[in-house]
Amino acid sequence: MNIGILALQGDFLEHFVIMQSIGVVPSLVRLPKELENLDGLIIPGGESTTIGKLAVAYHLIEPLREFGKEHAIWGTCAGAIFLSKDAMRDQPLLNLMDIQVERNAFGRQVDSFEIDLPAPFLERGEEHPFHAVFIRAPIIKSVSGEASVLLTIPDGRIVAAQQGKCLATSFHPELTSDTRFHQYFVELTKS
Ligand code: GLN
Repeated sequence: MNIGILALQGDFLEHFVIMQSIGVVPSLVRLPKELENLDGLIIPGGESTTIGKLAVAYHLIEPLREFGKEHAIWGTCAGAIFLSKDAMRDQPLLNLMDIQVERNAFGRQVDSFEIDLPAPFLERGEEHPFHAVFIRAPIIKSVSGEASVLLTIPDGRIVAAQQGKCLATSFHPELTSDTRFHQYFVELTKS
């Protein structure tokens, strides 16, 4: 599989390393032409306004929208915000997922937290919950249209959603050594 990682800002190298550990050598994407021949794209965590503004400056917005109509895209944290159609404020968005997100919904950096989430769609995901790391994370306030809820935290708030081949997670699987989410995305790119 040819998997790209958007490398404008944020923790793209962490995604790179974990993909390599499951035998996929990804490419780093900064220019529209670097989307050619990719089967899927990861948009990392970082700062969604910065990623959006850089995507505008690099003329990536339309090419990314076109890419996402046919191919798999996974956004983690800031990447999930960038994939959404509504971030409850004015910033560049890809509008590829029918989700409304609320940025920094858990508070400031000091309010970052980690939690184990049972994730039935992952391999052995019931018995071995996924350790989810939240850093100034958004929540997915609502899903509509074709989007569906993948994961919630115990209070019911949505932290992962999927729409076709687009995947959004509020948390950062790239900051753990658990490769199951990356494996799940690789399977999605093949579907
Ligand atoms: N708080 C960031 C934003 O709103 C996201 C943080 C992250 O990606 N860890 O863009």
